[in-house]
Amino acid sequence: MSRAWIGLGSNLGRREMYLHTALQKIAELQDTHIMALSSVYVTEPQGLTEQPHFYNMVVEVETGLTPHGLLDRLSDIECALGRVRTVRYGPRTIDLDLLLYGDEVLSDERLIVPHPRMGERAFVLVPLLEIYPGALDPRTGRAFAEHLHALHTQGVERAENGVQAAVKQHISVRQN
Ligand code: AMP
Repeated sequence: MSRAWIGLGSNLGRREMYLHTALQKIAELQDTHIMALSSVYVTEPQGLTEQPHFYNMVVEVETGLTPHGLLDRLSDIECALGRVRTVRYGPRTIDLDLLLYGDEVLSDERLIVPHPRMGERAFVLVPLLEIYPGALDPRTGRAFAEHLHALHTQGVERAENGVQAAVKQHISVRQN
């Protein structure tokens, strides 16, 4: 079994429902258990700014799936939730990124781990560090907390309690 960290984002339609359903589907994956859930954060869109705010969070899983197997299942969940790839960086019902898979470093035409842009994204690092404060970049050995110091975090706010409850209802987190 390996530990992996998955980033979730949604900024179209019923964002709480998309995050909640994605978590349910992740929890149902073969040989996979949810070990930790970050808070949900409301974040300003980057790139194309004329679009709704994102809800972002990070989930830690223990999984017997391989990195590519997990990536394929995450793509299935994106499809099941109706993600249509239109504009790059544009609005999406759900985006699932494989951020870290243990301390593996992988790069091929389908999968790059650690996720190539995670170190520049406060909306990824804030929730990741909430549940994994000691996270290290396996490429460099550098703490992701150090990356975060260099970034602006004003656009990343914890969502209100009603949103936290709606996203996390009935999602069980396994104790270590
Ligand atoms: P995006 O549209 O930004 O979600 O990118 C999805 C594409 O990125 C898919 O075709 C994946 O094969 C590829 N990809 C490469 N590395 C990763 C990763 N670590 N997590 C998610 N998708 C990845």
